[in-house]
Amino acid sequence: MLKRTKMSDPVLAGLVQEELERQEHNIEMIASESTAPLEVMELSGSVFTNKTLEGYPGRRFQAGSQIADKVEELACKRACELFGAEHANIQSYSGSTANYSVYASILTPGDKVLSMRLDQGGHLTHGSPANWVSKIYQFDFYGVDPETELIDYDAMEKKAKEYQPKLIIAGASSYPRIIDYKRIAEVAKEVGAYFMVDMAHIAGLVAAKVIPSPIPYADFVTSSTTKTFCSARSGMVFCKAEHAKLLDKGTFPGALGSIQLHTMAAKAWSFQYAASQEFREIMEQVVKNARCLAEELTKYGFRIVSDGTDNHLLVADLRSKNITGKDFQNALDSIGITVNKNMIPFDPQKPSVTSGVRIGLTAVSQRGLKEPEIREIAGIMNQVAEAPDNEENLKACKAQAQALIARFPLYPEGAFED
Ligand SMILES: *Cc1c(COP(=O)(O)O)cnc(C)c1O
Repeated sequence: MLKRTKMSDPVLAGLVQEELERQEHNIEMIASESTAPLEVMELSGSVFTNKTLEGYPGRRFQAGSQIADKVEELACKRACELFGAEHANIQSYSGSTANYSVYASILTPGDKVLSMRLDQGGHLTHGSPANWVSKIYQFDFYGVDPETELIDYDAMEKKAKEYQPKLIIAGASSYPRIIDYKRIAEVAKEVGAYFMVDMAHIAGLVAAKVIPSPIPYADFVTSSTTKTFCSARSGMVFCKAEHAKLLDKGTFPGALGSIQLHTMAAKAWSFQYAASQEFREIMEQVVKNARCLAEELTKYGFRIVSDGTDNHLLVADLRSKNITGKDFQNALDSIGITVNKNMIPFDPQKPSVTSGVRIGLTAVSQRGLKEPEIREIAGIMNQVAEAPDNEENLKACKAQAQALIARFPLYPEGAFED
């Protein structure tokens, strides 16, 4: 790995090596992370990165795009087959730009959008005051029921009827439950709104058919291709055939410039891999592991938001453990387990502190961890929470975490040797 860089820039090559070692020895439980397969690495670093192209197959603005056309056509065909979609546009560079391209396709400045509250699981690009989209469009929000911590669909319906949005968005960054797409689609239809689902976090689980797909219900489905999809750091959008022209025009020239052909090729590989038995089994284990961790942490006295999980992540309420999300994140990081602090619904703490952490099971499941190891991790987490300032305790926890993860290599041995 990095043969040339090692010679021309040892400083940078050293940083890559350090990061590889960090990942190798770390128990990665940030819900948005996963490990890119070696093929994704190869294709992302391939000569396709040299090609500039804009437009669509057969209608490019640059010469020499014949092979690129084949890549994009192959990728779109595989993507549609995998997700059972009528149309795919996979030019977006990320989940964020996937969303922007849909907004560019169907909204005009001042239009109203209804989405899920950021502090209850939604995403920055769904109308946070900190994101530029809130300067262009008007956003209002729905949230979860304080008792069940599930989306309050009745309140959402009421708000949609009052607010009359042009677009309703479902999908979240920290919602551990299955979303009732059919219900939201019915509301959207009733109020004459487009319905978009952002499946950034769950696309891998959807592709493997271990949780329900939003594709049959939504006008547009956007996604990142990292996270559970385990592919290149990029994005994708699906839509009904009737919106295909709108979406393509909204994406290019509406929202984006030239295509990143190297990540497009990596995505094309992943659209095939995600249909495999191997990928299905990993995704099944992700869900089993998440359930297992939720149950174990509950036994140790943590409260799990919504009392469990249906997908790859869970949100733990730490108040019963007398530790904040920030402090727990830092204590776990110091022993080699990475999670992120996260607001719980109706959190009394500030976003920079929080009462919870979000824990994801994708990366560890890819490495082969199963229920016995997950139970061990729950025990380590509890031991950290019990005495997060005790150096001896943290040292013992770190040793246990390192011994555990050492049994499950990040990549096959020798993968990066020259
Ligand atoms: C992560 C995420 C995004 C953004 O994806 P990026 O690839 O990081 O730009 C968009 N929407 C949701 C719901 C997400 O969780």
